[in-house]
Amino acid sequence: MDKEILNKLIRVVGSDNIILNKSEMSKYLIEWRGVYTGKAGAIIKPKSTKEVSKILKIAYSTNTPIISQGGNTGLVGGQISFDDNHIVLNLTRLNKVREINTLDKSITVESGLTLLELQNVCKKNNTLFPLSLASEGTCTIGGNISTNAGGVGVLYYGNTRNLVLGLEIVTPEGKIINTLSTLIKDNTGYSLKDLFIGSEGTLGVITAATLKVFPLPKEKYTGILKVKSPQKSIKVLRFIQENISTPLTAFELMNKFSINFVKKNIPGTVSPFNDFKWIILIEFSSLESSNEEEEKIQNLLGKLIKTDLVEDAVIAGSIRQSNEMWKLRESISEAQKAEGGSIKNDISVPIKFIDKFIRTAISIINKIIPNSRCVIFGHIGDGNIHFNISQPIKFNKKDFLKKEGIIRREIVKLTMKLEGSFSAEHGVGVARKADLKRYKKDELIIMKGIKESMDRKNIMNPGKIIDC
Ligand SMILES: Cc1cc2nc3c(=O)[nH]c(=O)nc-3n(C[C@H](O)[C@H](O)[C@H](O)COP(=O)(O)OP(=O)(O)OC[C@H]3O[C@@H](n4cnc5c(N)ncnc54)[C@H](O)[C@@H]3O)c2cc1C
Repeated sequence: MDKEILNKLIRVVGSDNIILNKSEMSKYLIEWRGVYTGKAGAIIKPKSTKEVSKILKIAYSTNTPIISQGGNTGLVGGQISFDDNHIVLNLTRLNKVREINTLDKSITVESGLTLLELQNVCKKNNTLFPLSLASEGTCTIGGNISTNAGGVGVLYYGNTRNLVLGLEIVTPEGKIINTLSTLIKDNTGYSLKDLFIGSEGTLGVITAATLKVFPLPKEKYTGILKVKSPQKSIKVLRFIQENISTPLTAFELMNKFSINFVKKNIPGTVSPFNDFKWIILIEFSSLESSNEEEEKIQNLLGKLIKTDLVEDAVIAGSIRQSNEMWKLRESISEAQKAEGGSIKNDISVPIKFIDKFIRTAISIINKIIPNSRCVIFGHIGDGNIHFNISQPIKFNKKDFLKKEGIIRREIVKLTMKLEGSFSAEHGVGVARKADLKRYKKDELIIMKGIKESMDRKNIMNPGKIIDC
């Protein structure tokens, strides 16, 4: 990396906030599962929007590519730098809460604040920020916005895009653009905010955001239902939505392999059922705290059992039991690590096709590698399925992973045939670029035009989503 550029950057952030040592850098260059390992000229950690602006001015004038990074929990390689002459702009020091506005029901925070810290600040102020992901202790709100993250609350509150009111962004030239508005109505031309949401660091840097907040529920009712098939689970979802006014805020389907892996590999986990094919984790959030509410939910579950849609149901009787239920869902990714090689697919299909997708995908996988263990779970109310495949027991991991290309191609082919998306939540990064080229040719031409007009020197996360 050019010494002169490094010296200019050091003058902006101070030598304590720039990492040049290879072993210290590795934490920022290896992603969570170890799938991508990168390299970079430096990791730089600014503390303010002004510092980000100065860094980008230097990058622009010296043609130095910048890879924005939040918590480094992305799953498609978007936050990883793959070149010695690129700089990782780690935003985790940019983490102030700027304003909480109870009348506008909004909070303005800097982009490096972790999602968990943001949730906690809201809770302390008797309000709710509903985005929730298993990576929330580490991922940042800037990363969530840049990937338009989903998670378990989408069913009721929508994905990140629905939660953003305004953004502060720094353009590749270093210009600060402030759209930190709390306006609900603002039809003044193209929505730049919406362009940045989901742009994975390819258009500029998000330095702050104004976000919607919601009333904090007084009670939560968590339960686990035993069902025979994904098709029945969709019918259960619709039955609940049509028969009770208490907001249903989570509806997570999990198959037997998911739960068995968790019970086996994550200490302290318990499942209310031993003999089942599919279970659903449900959660209702109520603004009222009353016995009537609980009774209503119990009655509803009783009706569901009578209709034959649900085989059995358990409602958590305490916060501890509710946490235990959530732990089952949130530990699946971690538990799968211990079962050898795995191939992961984060897809979505229209809800009407979920059952068909799951049945066909299982039979495709069994033809390619018999006895593979399909770990199927997801935010089924949004049509989002994590269709992950663990290698058969005693199978060679390398031989299994050699099949990744064909497995992914077949699953994506099926997904697209069923009018779905090959990346429901995680974005494109480097991992899904080939699919974008194959299935979104016309859209890609427009995306390329936008990228070229906003990032004329192609210094913002080059090679991610699009090749320019
Ligand atoms: C255990 C686990 C569970 C997960 N569950 C979910 C889930 O349920 N739903 C879901 O959607 N995702 C999930 N993810 C994926 C991941 O956590 C999300 O994509 C998250 O939004 C990434 O945030 P981050 O701060 O870690 O971003 P990073 O990984 O650091 O970056 C992700 C992308 O955003 C860009 N970026 C980051 N910050 C900025 C910024 N300030 N300005 C411009 N660009 C920026 C990066 O360049 C990169 O392209 C999960 C990941 C793990 C490890």
